[in-house]
Amino acid sequence: MARMPGAAWRPVINRTPSGRTEQRGLVLHVQDGRNSPYGWFNDEDSEASSDFWVSTSGRIEQYVDTGSDRAWAQGAGNRAYASVETEGYPDEPLTDAQIEGVAQIYAWGARLWGWPLQVIDSTTGRGLTFHGAGGAAWGGHPDCPGEIRKAQRGAIIARAAELLGKPTPAQPSPPASSYPSWPGRYISLRSPFMRGDDVRQWQQRMRDRGWRIDVDGVFGPQSAGVAHAFQAEKGLDPDSILGPATWAAAWTAPLT
Ligand SMILES: [Zn+2]
Repeated sequence: MARMPGAAWRPVINRTPSGRTEQRGLVLHVQDGRNSPYGWFNDEDSEASSDFWVSTSGRIEQYVDTGSDRAWAQGAGNRAYASVETEGYPDEPLTDAQIEGVAQIYAWGARLWGWPLQVIDSTTGRGLTFHGAGGAAWGGHPDCPGEIRKAQRGAIIARAAELLGKPTPAQPSPPASSYPSWPGRYISLRSPFMRGDDVRQWQQRMRDRGWRIDVDGVFGPQSAGVAHAFQAEKGLDPDSILGPATWAAAWTAPLT
C-alpha cells in the first residue's frame, strides 16, 4: 500500500490492479480543465485516471494505490511511471501552491522508491518527465503539459530537494524556444535587498516589456513596485515576490 500522507484518498475504478512494474519517477500532466477529475476517473467510459491531481490551491488527491496499481494516464508509460494531473490550462503557469503540491508528491516518491532529483525529457530514464515526451505510445499528447509547465519542473525538483534536506541539483538549461527557469529562490523585498544575476535578468525582461525599471541586479523598492503592479495586472497574487508563477508570467503573459 502506498498512499501518500497529506493527499485525499479517493480510489477510482479505472485502474489495473498490481499493474505497476517499475518505479522510474513521475510524469507531469496538465488537466486542461478545472475542478477534481474524480468523477471522470471513476467512470468506466472515460478509460482514464491518474495517480494524483493537484489543484491550483495545492489540494492533492490520490486515485490509485501508487506503486502497486497502474493508473491510466499515459499509455505505455503507465507501467513504469506515476502520474500527476495539474488543474488548469497549458497557457497558465502552475501556481506556487501547485508547485509545492507536486514537490511533496515527488519528495514522497523519492523517499519510498529513490526517484532521483532530476528533470528528464525521456520515457526510459528515472526522474520527473512529462506526458508529451512519450509521443504516440503514450497516447499522443504532445502539448501536455505545455512549454510553460514543462519549464517549471526545475522549480518542483528544487523544492522537493529542499523538503528532503538535500542540496538543489543543477538543472539543465532550458531550450532556446523556452524562457529561463525560475532561479529556485523567492526574490522579495528584504533588508539587505536581494541581488543577483537572476534579479538582473528579470529586470531586463520587465524593461523589455515596457516597464520603467533600473537593470541593476538589486531587488529594491522600485523592483518590488513593478512586481506588484505586474502581478495585479496579470491576476496573480500581488505579493511583490518573484515566485515561479510571477517569474514565468514575465516571459509568457501577453503584453498589454
Ligand atoms: Zn497528459
